[in-house]
Amino acid sequence: MVIYEGKAVFEGVAIGKLSVYKKNEETVKRIKVDAPEEEIARYAAAREEAVRQLQALYEKAVKEVGEASAEIFEAHQMMVDDDDFVESVESIIESQGVNAEYAVAETGDNFKKMFEEMDDEYFRGRAADIKDISERIIRILQGNGGAGIESEEPVIVVADDLAPSETVQMDKDKILSFVTVHGSANSHTSILAKTMNIPAIITCSIPLSEEVDGKEAIVDGFEGKVYVEPTPEILAEKQKLAAAEQEKKQLLELLKGKENVTLDGQKINLYANIGNTKDLGLVLKNDAGGIGLFRSEFIYLGSDDYPTEDEQFAIYKQVAETLAGKKVIIRTLDIGADKQADYFKLPAEENPALGLRAIRICLTRPEIFKTQLRAILRASAFGKVSIMFPMIISVDEVKEIQGILAEVKAELDAEGIAYDKKIETGIMIETPASVIMAEELAKEVDFFSIGTNDLTQYTLAIDRQNQSLDKFYDSHHPAILKMLKMVVDAAHKYGKWAGICGELGADLSLTKEFLAMGFDELSVSPGRILPIRKIVRETDVSAYKAGK
Ligand code: PEP
Ligand code: MG
Repeated sequence: MVIYEGKAVFEGVAIGKLSVYKKNEETVKRIKVDAPEEEIARYAAAREEAVRQLQALYEKAVKEVGEASAEIFEAHQMMVDDDDFVESVESIIESQGVNAEYAVAETGDNFKKMFEEMDDEYFRGRAADIKDISERIIRILQGNGGAGIESEEPVIVVADDLAPSETVQMDKDKILSFVTVHGSANSHTSILAKTMNIPAIITCSIPLSEEVDGKEAIVDGFEGKVYVEPTPEILAEKQKLAAAEQEKKQLLELLKGKENVTLDGQKINLYANIGNTKDLGLVLKNDAGGIGLFRSEFIYLGSDDYPTEDEQFAIYKQVAETLAGKKVIIRTLDIGADKQADYFKLPAEENPALGLRAIRICLTRPEIFKTQLRAILRASAFGKVSIMFPMIISVDEVKEIQGILAEVKAELDAEGIAYDKKIETGIMIETPASVIMAEELAKEVDFFSIGTNDLTQYTLAIDRQNQSLDKFYDSHHPAILKMLKMVVDAAHKYGKWAGICGELGADLSLTKEFLAMGFDELSVSPGRILPIRKIVRETDVSAYKAGK
């Protein structure tokens, strides 16, 4: 047995095989082959496997998000076997005597271009599907089952570090835990682990090699250790711990359907943070009252070009419909800093966290912003949608945003397109400037949601991505707690509501304090909803305040 240590960022115990994450850098090479018929046979087998994978995804999606949203996987299955596509691949293999991977990549590119140039919007939208299925077939041909994770069974992912654009591609069902050599406690990989409710360890000294790949291991997210090839004694001990955790989870299940109300009658909304439609299953499973933060930038990170209005609309509509009348707060894109998408072609910056990010991009490039606003507004006709703007620093900025929103609404009115005319708009409070200006800002919007991750970074002047500063990054700092109270009071003074959607909102040691401050909402990783509900229902806020 070998033990590797790191810093635990989410508790829990995972037992399974380690899988060293391989960056998806494999390019498709053109290779001359002697036996084209063998390539054609490999291609046929890969198609069969692709259809099988898509059928499994279809069945999973039906269970998690419903029949209508799962249909895309049925459509993909048909596209895999489309006659024109298959003929084109086979003819490239035969006429050029080349490998199947190259022929699929070539055909995929050609078909994608063809669809992109079509007049009909529906067919233009199919270009992305073509890309998706060609990449799936290529991955199968290369013996690489799913972006970066090769195993069929769920594994413990070991990586150097993971960019948000990498985690977004992963098949979450295959991940038992994350262990990274780098990364900070406030990075998006940590946030993702929390969303998925799985143990995670960062800054771990584990080697990224054959030495650990494929070996049995235990991740203990309480003590921050990875046990590779554990002894039978350790295995038995950790299995016991895992069973106890499971039991705790089952007890929490009893709280499903119960109100978030304290012993003395104070209520609070408990909403979920999501980054993806794939998280919707977790939202429903954990009985969230709504979605308090949909990090829409993950849609942008998951594509290699600007997502179109229709693509975005389909996603927002799916979220709104799945939540069936419960509130869905969509945050407009927060690209920049650690969340980079190449096609935005943002200039290299000395200090990206202080740079062109989030609302600053939207106000500099209003065409991108307007496309997103149109998509969100259109989706608001299908559920209860609110819009939230990130990284706000001034009243003028909010006025400019409201002006753009009014223009977009007027366009939709002129086109006779339905949307919620009374759509709620709010802002994230995540800069010190917005805290200081909270009263003035409260007059302009319907709600505040505090982004404590960035608010801590900007208030304490500590880069949230810098792992060597984790020990200084203290979101319990009295300055932060004072700011939280200032923000709730400012909102309430003007009859608006206030919540927290940063990670601090999920800190169970502060739940009572947040109730005492008067917060109306906490938006947290789905797995945190029931533990917080438990505390809320056991708290007497007046007694807590009296005892302070
Ligand atoms: C925050 O800053 O607290 C927040 C919720 O936004 P993000 O973590 O996506 O920057
Ligand atoms: Mg933020």
